[in-house]
Amino acid sequence: MQAWKKNIRKVVPYVPGEQPQRKVIKLNTNENPYPPAPGVKMALEEFNEDCLRLYPDPDCMKLRTVLADYYKVTPDNVFVGVGSDDVLSVAFMTFFNSDKPILFPDITYSFYSVWADVYRIPYEKIPVGEDFKITASDYYKENGGVIFANPNAPTAIYENLEFVEEIVKNNQDVIVIVDEAYIDFGGESAISLTEKYDNLLVVQTFSKSRSMAGTRIGFAIGNPELIKAMNDVKFSINSYTMNQNSLYIGGEAVKDDAYFKETVSKIVNTREKTMLRLKEMGFEGTDSKTNFLFVKHNAMRASEIFEKLKEKDIFVRYFKTAGIDNYLRITIGTDEEMEMLIKALEEIMNF
Ligand SMILES: *Cc1c(COP(=O)(O)O)cnc(C)c1O
Repeated sequence: MQAWKKNIRKVVPYVPGEQPQRKVIKLNTNENPYPPAPGVKMALEEFNEDCLRLYPDPDCMKLRTVLADYYKVTPDNVFVGVGSDDVLSVAFMTFFNSDKPILFPDITYSFYSVWADVYRIPYEKIPVGEDFKITASDYYKENGGVIFANPNAPTAIYENLEFVEEIVKNNQDVIVIVDEAYIDFGGESAISLTEKYDNLLVVQTFSKSRSMAGTRIGFAIGNPELIKAMNDVKFSINSYTMNQNSLYIGGEAVKDDAYFKETVSKIVNTREKTMLRLKEMGFEGTDSKTNFLFVKHNAMRASEIFEKLKEKDIFVRYFKTAGIDNYLRITIGTDEEMEMLIKALEEIMNF
């Protein structure tokens, strides 16, 4: 073996869902089936060569201001990044620097352990219950920080604000990060708690509820000291993380609240209808407050259903992970897409 090989940072990377380069029914990466707000397209049309020629605003003020107005905070409460994956990664680097382990659920977004590994952060995975629920009191012990997703992924389970506050209140010596990628589909955001708790950072994304996964915009809201610390780290790596295009069009997705609420409510309706149909077919699952369902069927292994759906060009997500390896995670698409899913499942399972 060449000597230099021992100095390579060895990591086991996160594996994102497939992005097949042909037209399929794509219910595997929780994208929104509806286009972004009409204002986004209009802003894109105004996007000119100067936008490309110049460096973007490193402070991202235009976008931070729109977000601050919407969430009733100030721009110095807002950090923006290249998708919430970037925001979370910067947050891990900025806040998790203790010798004590950070804590997160054993069943959750699998990127958390990847960031912890790549940044050499010690961590402990706390088992969720039989029902996949997180127990708040499991997190009341010495640690180097806490992160959890609410609603959690891929379980789709939401916990209310009191639950979140209990965890934050019992961890005031460390930073608590709440990953709210799916909060708009039926939960109440913990942003309102960030004024009361200076150790709380709430992270959200434009990728799901705002139909902008391709543009890569995520943001964090917290007290100005946390935001400044994250910006110091960001400016120590790359000042221009947000491309001009994202800064230019991102705000338009936030300003059109009527459109946002309409598409979110369509997805919620389709979710409830689909879950009923699946239950009639004998599927079981969690009570989803997200834009996906987490389900299993006792008559057929999830891995088999997954493969058979794929043969019919319907892509859903399957995790070969202990504890959840008999479950499927199915993104909520349009009503038509979900009809096609149901029809395919009926064929596969011989109903
Ligand atoms: C989708 C997702 C993210 C990341 O989304 P971005 O596209 O990077 O903003 C973060 N956390 C959870 C739990 C997610 O499901």
